[in-house]
Amino acid sequence: MQTITDNIFENTEIAYKRLSNNELKKSYFLFSLMKNATLVHFGNQILQFLLKINFPILGIVKKTIYSHFCGGETLDESQKTILDLSKNNIDTLLNYSVEGLENTDSFKETYHKTLEAIDFAKLNQSIRAICIKFTGFARIDIWIKLQKGETLSNNEEEEYQKALDYIQHLSQKAVENNVQLYIDAEESWFQDSIDKVALDLMLQYNKEKAIIFNTYQLYRSDKLEHLKRDIQWAIANQVQLGAKIVRGAYVEKENEYARKHQLNSPIHKTKQDTDQDFNKAIEYCIHNINYVSLCCASHNEFSNQLLIQLLQKNNISLDHPNISASQLQGMSDNITYNMAQFGVKMSKYLPYGPVKEVIPYLIRRSQENTSVEGQTSREFDLLLQEKNRRNL
Ligand SMILES: Cc1cc2nc3c(=O)[nH]c(=O)nc-3n(C[C@H](O)[C@H](O)[C@H](O)COP(=O)(O)OP(=O)(O)OC[C@H]3O[C@@H](n4cnc5c(N)ncnc54)[C@H](O)[C@@H]3O)c2cc1C
Repeated sequence: MQTITDNIFENTEIAYKRLSNNELKKSYFLFSLMKNATLVHFGNQILQFLLKINFPILGIVKKTIYSHFCGGETLDESQKTILDLSKNNIDTLLNYSVEGLENTDSFKETYHKTLEAIDFAKLNQSIRAICIKFTGFARIDIWIKLQKGETLSNNEEEEYQKALDYIQHLSQKAVENNVQLYIDAEESWFQDSIDKVALDLMLQYNKEKAIIFNTYQLYRSDKLEHLKRDIQWAIANQVQLGAKIVRGAYVEKENEYARKHQLNSPIHKTKQDTDQDFNKAIEYCIHNINYVSLCCASHNEFSNQLLIQLLQKNNISLDHPNISASQLQGMSDNITYNMAQFGVKMSKYLPYGPVKEVIPYLIRRSQENTSVEGQTSREFDLLLQEKNRRNL
């Protein structure tokens, strides 16, 4: 086995080989804007205002930030990106990224779109998984009530049962089509009710291999223990645990909620604590590799390097079927493309859907890329490095 000792993430030639000179300049320009926190803050507010007054801004959004982070408005429009990725041995995690529309029609629409995506995946071997949010199938209030142990009204019970029907049917379809189903983690005040359904699904569908994956947000101080507990549960129940590990996307929202409700925040006190738990989670999964399928979903170079080091130290092949790593489309190509070169099973999380509906996702990405504490601000420096290498 080839030992990887150097920092493999420095190679910007491999990382950005898919970008033409013009595309590279466009990405560089976009990240130079997103680096400016004040601009992003006011830019997002102006964008939301323009959308509210129906100002025709969607065309510009589509050509800029949307095309950088998303596949397209439909599956067919996303096909080109999926193919480009697969040519570089990179799989796709597809997500119909419509959020926050809390009504029966939109739940039904999300169900049909997800079903369509699972069928689409059958014909496209490089689509490793379809990602779903449970709040796409029933109102958030219902998930909250369930977590609090409150009784649902008749209408709510009906809505919840409908959501469970949708989720069951999607899981069965995923098994039939041999495509994985990744359940996104959301906010802590209803995450327990998501976790409960996720484990029930694993008990049904993960007997032979992991089809259903739950997400563990290691920015929460209790999640490393949850992950360990679930691995032991999987061993006891003879199922394969599907575990996508992330740091977590809602730090500010979580802290704000805790302040407002005079609760202790579930988020770690420092970034270092989050990093430490994330890295311990990788280690714990690798030690239990026969019982866990791990998707290490992170843009952090140290965590990805650690994943490789631990595999090598434990004489586990880099392309072990139970190990994969993933980054969001439009972010950290230096990690995705370089690790794929070494045979690690890599994927990109690719959102698709109508531009207007994907805006909340795009706002989160722009905010994430201004974060000075995260690895993501490194994107700008890498694009600059590649621009200089090409003498642009
Ligand atoms: C494939 C994929 C799937 C994803 N799915 C989900 C999902 O289901 N749910 C979800 O919530 N997120 C999800 N994410 C988003 C993910 O949470 C963020 O991209 C990730 O947190 C960014 O961190 P990083 O691991 O890339 O590393 P870094 O950039 O090194 O870390 C940044 C992260 O550290 C944490 N952090 C920052 N400051 C502090 C602090 N002061 N104290 C404690 N922690 C801090 C935050 O989580 C922040 O996002 C997903 C990401 C990928 C790539």
